[in-house]
Amino acid sequence: MEVPLSRYQSLVLDQIHGSSGSFSGHRYLFSGYCFSFTRRKWRNPCSQIWCSSAMEQGLKPRPKLQRLQIDISERKETVLEETQIRKPSSGIGNQIEKLVLYKRYREALELFEILELEGGYEVGSSTYDALVSACVGLKSIRGVKRVFNLMTRNGFEPDLYMRNRVLLMHLRCGMMIDARKLFEEMPEKNLVSWNMMVAGLVDSGEFMEAFRLFLRIWQEFSEGGSRIFATMIRASAGLGLIFAGRQVHSCALKMGVGQDIFVSCALIDMYSKCGDIEGAQFVFDELPEKTTVGWNTIIAGYALHGYSEEALSLYYEMRESGVKMDHFTFSILVRICTRLASLEHAKQAHAGLVRHGFGSDIVANTALVDFYSKWGRIEDARHVFDKMPCKNLLSWNALIAGYGNHGRGDEAIELFEKMLKEGLIPNHVTFLAVLSACSYSGLSERGWEMFESMSRDHKIKPRAMHYACMIELLGRDGLLDEAYALLRAAPFKPTANMWAALLTACRIHENLELGKLAAEKLYGMEPEKLSNYIVLLNMYNSSGKLKEAAGVVQTLRRKGLRMRPACSWIDVKKQAHFFYSGDKIHFETKQIYQKVDDLMAEIVKHGYTPQQKTLLPDVDENEERILLYHSEKLAIAYGMISTPDGTSLQIVQSHRVCSDCHSAIKLMALVTGREIVLRDGSRFHRFKDGSCSCGDYW
Ligand SMILES: [Zn+2]
Ligand SMILES: [Zn+2]
Repeated sequence: MEVPLSRYQSLVLDQIHGSSGSFSGHRYLFSGYCFSFTRRKWRNPCSQIWCSSAMEQGLKPRPKLQRLQIDISERKETVLEETQIRKPSSGIGNQIEKLVLYKRYREALELFEILELEGGYEVGSSTYDALVSACVGLKSIRGVKRVFNLMTRNGFEPDLYMRNRVLLMHLRCGMMIDARKLFEEMPEKNLVSWNMMVAGLVDSGEFMEAFRLFLRIWQEFSEGGSRIFATMIRASAGLGLIFAGRQVHSCALKMGVGQDIFVSCALIDMYSKCGDIEGAQFVFDELPEKTTVGWNTIIAGYALHGYSEEALSLYYEMRESGVKMDHFTFSILVRICTRLASLEHAKQAHAGLVRHGFGSDIVANTALVDFYSKWGRIEDARHVFDKMPCKNLLSWNALIAGYGNHGRGDEAIELFEKMLKEGLIPNHVTFLAVLSACSYSGLSERGWEMFESMSRDHKIKPRAMHYACMIELLGRDGLLDEAYALLRAAPFKPTANMWAALLTACRIHENLELGKLAAEKLYGMEPEKLSNYIVLLNMYNSSGKLKEAAGVVQTLRRKGLRMRPACSWIDVKKQAHFFYSGDKIHFETKQIYQKVDDLMAEIVKHGYTPQQKTLLPDVDENEERILLYHSEKLAIAYGMISTPDGTSLQIVQSHRVCSDCHSAIKLMALVTGREIVLRDGSRFHRFKDGSCSCGDYW
């Protein structure tokens, strides 16, 4: 596609202006900055410093930088010579450089203290260069300030290369305000400086600002190389503006860098993040060479949009193509498995990680801990967790939530305390995991203690989810008035989650009055969410209030809401099998129905009585007629006939399990000696030895 550059520029300008309304003439955009080119300000007036974790996501250096690095090594020698002749004391400088060469950054900065404190040392450009690397390596804001201070104090006159390095140091440590000032005050800038600044802006989420600077680059250079295009595509993805991304794409094609691997991977990512998975697939198909990063990006793109099966089959294609798989590949695979409940694939990913030497990768292992915790294998989760050489907060959170899901509240709390002892600072996710663990396990008092200590000891304000957790905790104890009081006492407007927790409590304890109030609040907040209506409908039905029930049905009709059939699915031999209540589509229908009948006959011997007037929490009343063959029962029966004895089963479904199925499954787990993990619309249920981890509250 031929798009004249000038037209392209004005297009982006207009369109971005239209979309956000904050794009003004770029020539005067930076009037607030000091443009003095003759008098350089090397003082550090920094008033606002913040760190961006996104910094690490920066693209790998392009060839241009490599050439620069060769320049440095050539130059390094000459500078070294100079300083050595002038000042013998530069021995410390040499030591610092050596330490940095071996990536011993912390020690290098410790040694730097001598230069700093004693003063009077002549510090060579190469030593500063090494110190910059140390600061970048450690992402140390304090280090940056100290090194920069010394440069100023010593009257160091950096050349363009060193100015770029100093800029990079500020950018990588997230000191954006200072970086911006340095950039604008540079007496001369080359393309490296511009690219660096734009990439820094994108990394710190200042996408519009990056676009403004990008236009200035065009005015000054009329080119930018593949690197800048990859950066600007990331900016478009960050803004979620597909038209901006398409413009940059066509411009990259015109400049002949459309096939560059960095540009292509950024494009795949951008298209998939902007919801255009076909666009992403198109770019991927056009890749001249399908690299590991390319495969990872397209698989992650499909997974992001919930196309888990497609993502999985792409993973197989990747494996067959013989391209190397890295720890990202396996992390994505585990995340897909978590959604698909596919134990087989997860085990494969686990083995692949170990075999490929990524056994200690923190991201992939955390994904594994999460997977095993969610799918009933808490011992496996613990095993992976214990073997991790280093763990981050996410790893701890995943395991604590795992113990909670398994109804093992005491262990969750124990782990939480261990985490505190090891010096980790909990976040709101940690508390959510601990509070739900307390709630699931009926540890009311402990839950309250935690809830109170959140803001008191850990300075974390409880959010709506934490309140919802506490409402559930009270609801389990049947303290509905207290739950309602807590909801009203929240220092913000109660959210849908909080009302939903109250509604669940009302359903279980059959409190119609409060239930009606909660349901009506929910109608207002989530008018399209069917389950809210159905919960109330079933409550009315079961308490014989037929007139009120008819009213709910009328409301449903008026809103044009239709009930979707309940569906459950199970993964057997890497293949997903879907079941609808009472359906007879599956090729092994006969055996499946026979197995359900056998199982039901078996559990009757263990005291099961079918609940005639059962509450279907959020599915159609028609389902009641086919109660015996609810989709979850069919999925379980299929799992039983197609896997060896003792194998645990993982089932997923979007609707809440009904109380009849719940009690039936508990006994099925008992009589078959199998563990059954069911993820329903509300939570994880882990059925084992005749009981469920949810404590019969869902
Ligand atoms: Zn059921
Ligand atoms: Zn349960």
